[in-house]
Amino acid sequence: GVKFYFNTEVVSIGSNNGKLYEVIDQNGKKWAADIFISNADAASFRGQILGRKKFSEEKLDKMHWTLAPFTIYLGVKGKVKNLEHHNYFLGNNFKGYADTIFTSSIAPQKPYYYVNVLSKSDNTCAPEGCENIFILCPVPDLRYKKDWSDKEDLAKTIIDDLSKRTDFDLSSNTIVKKVLAPDDWANMLNLYKGSGLGLAHDIDQVGAFRPKNKDEHFSNLYYVGASTTPGTGLPMVVISSRLVTERIINDSTLP
Ligand SMILES: Cc1cc2nc3c(=O)[nH]c(=O)nc-3n(C[C@H](O)[C@H](O)[C@H](O)COP(=O)(O)OP(=O)(O)OC[C@H]3O[C@@H](n4cnc5c(N)ncnc54)[C@H](O)[C@@H]3O)c2cc1C
Repeated sequence: GVKFYFNTEVVSIGSNNGKLYEVIDQNGKKWAADIFISNADAASFRGQILGRKKFSEEKLDKMHWTLAPFTIYLGVKGKVKNLEHHNYFLGNNFKGYADTIFTSSIAPQKPYYYVNVLSKSDNTCAPEGCENIFILCPVPDLRYKKDWSDKEDLAKTIIDDLSKRTDFDLSSNTIVKKVLAPDDWANMLNLYKGSGLGLAHDIDQVGAFRPKNKDEHFSNLYYVGASTTPGTGLPMVVISSRLVTERIINDSTLP
């Protein structure tokens, strides 16, 4: 069986003779094992926890990271007729927007965003006569915009825009609301600078060029997840777990 320990962050390690013998959590508790698999970001873990120069903050910042998500979760009273399950709200200059939005130091003034209304397809997701609405807006990550104390302003801009486009007053019908900016995502999941999907799939960051799922120095340390092979996104990270399992079995001396 598997036992989960929540709220336990690995902050350092103990090693000896090319092997890891323990990881140490934020309370100083030591966790020993024969084999370790890190599901933390495979690039930033190497830099921040293992202190590898190749993955220093300066080097990590130069890598290509996927979008930082700005997300809004709404529970709304009433049915929003002008929304489908999947909805995109884009302006008329997609290329110009996409070229500048990720490296801007300010939040988008006229945001392009995606809206998912799960209650359109599954009525168990919201009380009768209500909707649950998820809004995702790609924004600059923490390399470019560090301070997100203005997140409620961007949330208001998006909610007002969506209200206008759907002809439904979302603000006054909102029962629950949660807004998560890139710094929230970074803190919650240790996502490097708030990058939602980890390392991007640029040609120099895939295959043999991607951080490997077996550590370069510690023979009993493996990696799984978005920033190791094969890549990011849910289908890929599931494949990643299969690949690392196969790798450990192949490395194993057990019969
Ligand atoms: C808002 C958003 C929307 C997305 N939408 C989609 C989508 O529609 N389709 C899709 O395919 N993908 C989507 N993704 C991406 C997808 O969720 C990720 O690629 C995938 O979850 C990554 O899985 P993972 O196991 O690598 O990392 P995670 O799911 O982030 O799991 C890593 C775990 O390790 C923990 N951890 C990190 N560091 C440490 C540490 N030092 N010590 C202990 N624990 C640690 C974290 O807390 C976390 O629980 C989305 C991501 C976001 C943020």
